[in-house]
Amino acid sequence: MTATYRVDLAGRPVVVVGGDGPALGHIAELLDAGASVTVVSETVVATVEDLADRGLIFWHRHSFTAADLDDAWLAVAATADPRINATIALEAEARRILTVSGDAVPTDDIATTGRVILVGGGPGDPGLLTLAGKEAIEKADVIVTDRLAPLAALRWARPDAEIIDVAKVPGGRSTTQDEINRLLVEHAKSGKTVVRFKGGDSFVFGRGGEELIACLDSGIPAHVVPGVTSAIAAPAAVNIPVTHRGVNQGFTVISGHVPPDDPESTLDYAALARSGTSLVLLMAVRTLPAIATALIDGGMDPGTPAAIVADGAMPSQQVVRATVGTIADAAREAGIKAPAVTVIGGVAAIEGLL
Ligand code: SAH
Repeated sequence: MTATYRVDLAGRPVVVVGGDGPALGHIAELLDAGASVTVVSETVVATVEDLADRGLIFWHRHSFTAADLDDAWLAVAATADPRINATIALEAEARRILTVSGDAVPTDDIATTGRVILVGGGPGDPGLLTLAGKEAIEKADVIVTDRLAPLAALRWARPDAEIIDVAKVPGGRSTTQDEINRLLVEHAKSGKTVVRFKGGDSFVFGRGGEELIACLDSGIPAHVVPGVTSAIAAPAAVNIPVTHRGVNQGFTVISGHVPPDDPESTLDYAALARSGTSLVLLMAVRTLPAIATALIDGGMDPGTPAAIVADGAMPSQQVVRATVGTIADAAREAGIKAPAVTVIGGVAAIEGLL
């Protein structure tokens, strides 16, 4: 991200090296800011010449030399030659003069290859999206979005941005992961900046790793903007800290999308029961009875505090507090539905926070 500072340039000498297309916008903006503008260039476009003729700028009609920077507060390196611009920047730096680069973005960056940004959207409240995530959404040409992403944030998208919904609705419509990967790669190949927008953090049960590999394997530049994971944010929304000094020394996040006795399950529930960490269960509403039983069978005290938070950090948020022995029934009676996070461990009942 580029930092933006407001600098008062009124009446201060600024040197713009270069006098045609790339320089024009800089000159206009500097004049608006009240700077005293000197253009250094052998040739200039008509508008610049006119400004000089009208006494609004100074025009030094020669090619750049270091002496042109004398007295300047700011240098704008806006020639058409990136090597000359680099030289200007070096000379300016040696004199502690700030430089603005007027280099055009290389056209192959915009025209031929786009890029993919995997943006973690947090648990559902747009306020919990990062600033980098917001900036990516604002700039995107294409946004490939999920159901659990904070969809209100799509209002920040450009009006002409293409928004593609690839939600995997449990038991409903869904787009295969191969198709999602293909969409990301194809749009980026056509030169677009593509945001892959999803809930929480893309790398926490978000298949972000697969998407990143698909892009990089196809030669598409891709990077990740981390998100606030619901594993931490949903408990936090009801004042449950996943770690607490004197209560535990860690937390373990697991997926309960398959029950403990399922051949696909790779988790050792007896080890989890003894781990001494808080357990944070995602995708575990349907499987909660079987998971609670496996933990108790593995040696966990049935009186261990537990809480389930549905729609965490959203207006429809709901929480049920119980113990690992009673949480499954309590959640069912309260009508808890996905998405929900369950926390098991002493942190779920810290006095003073409830
Ligand atoms: N990448 C996401 C998790 C995706 S798996 C993240 O980091 O948060 C989907 C599971 O996340 C849901 O089944 C649920 O367990 C959890 N989840 C996502 N958003 C949630 C929310 N707002 N409140 C509670 N749980 C949520």
